[in-house]
Amino acid sequence: MPEETILVLASRNTGKTVEIKDMLKGFPIIIKDLNDFGPIPPVVETGTTFDENAYIKASFTARILGLPAMADDSGLCVEALNGAPGVYSARYAGNDATDEQRCTKLLQDLQGLSDRNAAFECVISIAVSTGAALTYEGRCEGLIAEKPRGTSGFGYDPIFYYPPLNKTFAEMSREEKSQISHRGLALNQVRDELDKILIWIKQNSPVFEKVNCHHSS
Ligand code: IMP
Repeated sequence: MPEETILVLASRNTGKTVEIKDMLKGFPIIIKDLNDFGPIPPVVETGTTFDENAYIKASFTARILGLPAMADDSGLCVEALNGAPGVYSARYAGNDATDEQRCTKLLQDLQGLSDRNAAFECVISIAVSTGAALTYEGRCEGLIAEKPRGTSGFGYDPIFYYPPLNKTFAEMSREEKSQISHRGLALNQVRDELDKILIWIKQNSPVFEKVNCHHSS
């Protein structure tokens, strides 16, 4: 029976945890998320790239908990807006805005523009407590639709049109979306390399040796 490695997802989003657990099932790995631990300080995403933010989240969690951690950072990059909203995708219409408000703002910002090219990007970082990390990336190109279509998914899904399937992300089933989405592509690489990743984790994790105390009487 192979020894099981614990991997902590630096997320409190149970939807994401369920999706990731599903994609990584069958491996000698125990997946936990931040909800499995007591209160830990919130991490501030100060990076200006998906890479930086994914690493900040993964390495912070690994250091605080002393366990290997995995984080993803993702967002939508629109060509006509010079790559915006990008790392600010979640905060594009203000901190308390809804997904619907974010979509409406993006459609307004693109009104009258013929360049509708866009891409979803995702970076996954796997870090150990020493700060060493591995990085995986996924990208999915598409177009920003003229108006929302579909009800599945979350975020900008209703306005992200994927021409090869002639559907927006919100018109796809979860399985369909994970086969071609930025997050699905990055996670597929993690799954394909998981055997090697587990060896890397073992080699890069600090070993705590037991020290025997000798009491002199
Ligand atoms: P995070 O990676 O969970 O921080 O997501 C950043 C933001 O990017 C989300 O709040 C969404 O607005 C957007 N986003 C990331 N991935 C997707 C997706 O698959 N569909 C729609 N929106 C997404």
